[in-house]
Amino acid sequence: MDYKIVGYVSKAGRLGTYKHTATAKNKFADGNRVLLESFGSEPVKFWVDESKLVAAPPQSEAARANAETKQCWECGGSFTYRECREHDGEWGDSYCGC
Ligand SMILES: [Zn+2]
Repeated sequence: MDYKIVGYVSKAGRLGTYKHTATAKNKFADGNRVLLESFGSEPVKFWVDESKLVAAPPQSEAARANAETKQCWECGGSFTYRECREHDGEWGDSYCGC
């Protein structure tokens, strides 16, 4: 399933990384509602206002070191699947989203 990686600050004030999997028009106000899905074995799905999205926290050095990387055909930079999803790239086409 295609998704974009985004950041969202929970009501408890914690910045988390989520999959943005769907967008729908807000019936009650201007703007869109977006469906977020958490990572992990028991993902939680919930809708939030699109305006509440923030930049995703960067992938940790440790996670990046263990992740498969590709080289972008456009800019030549190396990128992980996570970074590709974060920047609307095309993993299959080796495009980082630059
Ligand atoms: Zn690139």
